[in-house]
Amino acid sequence: MRLPTVIAVALLAAPPAAAQQQPYPTRFTRALAEVPAVRDAMRHIDDHFEAQLAEWIRITEMPAKSEHEERRAAYVKAQLEGMGLPVVTDSIGNVTTRLRGTGGGPTLVFAAHLDTVHPMETDVTVTRRGDALHAPGVFDNSASVANALQALRAMLASGLKTKGDIVIVFTVQEELGLRGMAYWLDRNPADLLVALDGGLGSVNYGALGIYWSRMVFSGEGSHTNTSRGKPHPARAAAQCILDIYRIPLPPAGAPVSAVYNVGILDGGHVVNAIPQEVSFTVDLRTVDPALLATLDTAIVHTCGRAAAAEKVTFAREFIQKNEAGGRPEALADRRRHPIVQTSVDVLRYLGVELPAGREAAPTGSTDANVGVVRGIPTVAVGRSRGGDQHTLSEWADGPSARIGTKQIILLAAALAEVAERPVP
Ligand SMILES: [Zn+2]
Repeated sequence: MRLPTVIAVALLAAPPAAAQQQPYPTRFTRALAEVPAVRDAMRHIDDHFEAQLAEWIRITEMPAKSEHEERRAAYVKAQLEGMGLPVVTDSIGNVTTRLRGTGGGPTLVFAAHLDTVHPMETDVTVTRRGDALHAPGVFDNSASVANALQALRAMLASGLKTKGDIVIVFTVQEELGLRGMAYWLDRNPADLLVALDGGLGSVNYGALGIYWSRMVFSGEGSHTNTSRGKPHPARAAAQCILDIYRIPLPPAGAPVSAVYNVGILDGGHVVNAIPQEVSFTVDLRTVDPALLATLDTAIVHTCGRAAAAEKVTFAREFIQKNEAGGRPEALADRRRHPIVQTSVDVLRYLGVELPAGREAAPTGSTDANVGVVRGIPTVAVGRSRGGDQHTLSEWADGPSARIGTKQIILLAAALAEVAERPVP
């Protein structure tokens, strides 16, 4: 198959020049962590960790499939009001609160998504085995919701003051394509954005572009008895699936790669007829906007050719479209924004080991993506250790959420600029 030249160019492009030698700018210092109010807030996390674990379990056990986050949203709202904080619930369902700064600092926005991917009838009872908590949704992203609530309590209890406002948004519909975050950023300003999502230790400052499409093939259909030689949407779809998997991709592990998957196949109602409609979905992902567009076009053209060969009609429907943040070299400036190195330094201060040279990654698929593509200095940082997210065997390591929560406090103090002078 003839390939658009852009793919070839992407394949040949040299990796970014060797990692630069100058240190990246940071807003974190050890002295900052020694500011009495910061220290007190950190101690508050240690002193109340059992209560935090109990609340984390309570939140996990509230089913919250995307678009059905109401119970969690009501719980979070009640907790925030109990802390004496202002609460705004917008019309899509995001719950927002704000700690007012003393003035003159940036508005720092944290985002923690309320929703999970699990159907409402899923058993979300948490079982504890040693330090591990097991339940669908316990890791992604119930941990961040609990962490954010506890970080707020700790900052209030310690009297921690920052120059900038600290805004925490509990977003909805993250798993449906970051819809709650997009809705929020359409209506609210943010100088800095930190998404709380992912495994503890991750610092992502880019955005994986993700296109979800449904490829629909339609024809007139026919009884099997009269089907010979008739246009056949299933044959067109089958040919198209085979053909799109022949589109070459940059090798896995290349500086910029891409991946796609045919996930849902659908069509036909009866055994004894050519179906009138057959469809399949494509999930296409890469951080490179040009490669995303090129591959998308190649896939759509491939489907169009398969449809024409079978004399059926073809239409592509977008299910969701999240744009890509850029190739690593295009994101070099992003890496130099202090929000990234501050996040790395905070984790190291908290004793989290990060691989040298790969402390931060120019990718991401969280609420942070919405900030990245809008040009807002943005990172996504993790919540706890854990695994098997989006599955029934999802689990999380309880004690690691303590670090995830302290991370929020240190990021708030560093990025929203603690108002109290560090002790000399
Ligand atoms: Zn998540």
